Amino acid sequence: MANTKCEAAVSSINGRNFSDSSHTVFLSDVHLDASRPAITEQLIAFLNALPVSTERLYIVGDLFEAWIGDDAPGTVGKQLVPVLKALTGRGVEGFFTHGNRDFMIGEKFATLTGFDLLPDEIVIDCYGISVLLLHGDTLCTDDTDYQALRTTLRNPAFQENLMNMSVPQRVDLAQQLRSASTAEMSNKTEDIMDANQTAVVDALNRHEVDVMLHGHTHRPQVHYFDIDARPRQRIVLGDWFEQGSVVFWSDDGFELQSLQRHA
Ligand code: MN
Repeated sequence: MANTKCEAAVSSINGRNFSDSSHTVFLSDVHLDASRPAITEQLIAFLNALPVSTERLYIVGDLFEAWIGDDAPGTVGKQLVPVLKALTGRGVEGFFTHGNRDFMIGEKFATLTGFDLLPDEIVIDCYGISVLLLHGDTLCTDDTDYQALRTTLRNPAFQENLMNMSVPQRVDLAQQLRSASTAEMSNKTEDIMDANQTAVVDALNRHEVDVMLHGHTHRPQVHYFDIDARPRQRIVLGDWFEQGSVVFWSDDGFELQSLQRHA
């Protein structure tokens, strides 16, 4: 039932139907949380409905609203693991990039799901096109407070201390971080929380590619611009709060699509 509902959603949106050709799927910023079951349901229906022509699935960070360690997956974590495992079990290659919410996802999660954990930045081959894949938070260089916090949270010593805390202590800490983040965001302008174009150009040049794909900013769009007279593209996935957001990519190119959520 759920599968049919979701396939209908994919093919009814503006876009092409990629089911007929081998393709790769990208998504990010689902922010799964037990308090938002409709989002979990939509994602699971979407994943279960992926056709046999789906070769690879990239989850580009912030799959979960919070992840305090592989030893405490919580309700939504437990729901997702078998769904992801079923995909890799039938031959879909699964890849996961850490987001700023679920950077504590580790090897146990990878083993249970059959997904590969990717480094923060990686260049992948997409049907002949080199694409820089990253969550996107590192591009928001104008948000200096966040970048400082990120340095702390990504420090291996900090993460080791974190894993030595009890689960309730970690739950509290995650809640505090989220509250602080929400309070800070209300004081920041939209510009500060968007990708900085200099950081975008730097990343493309550093990896010597023309195309990047990321999430994080929750501003789904394809940006076209030139650097040194060469056309570049920045593909931005959206969040899943009001609808799904995915990129399909095949031999014929890519398309950023939104997936309507049926009540
Ligand atoms: Mn994020």
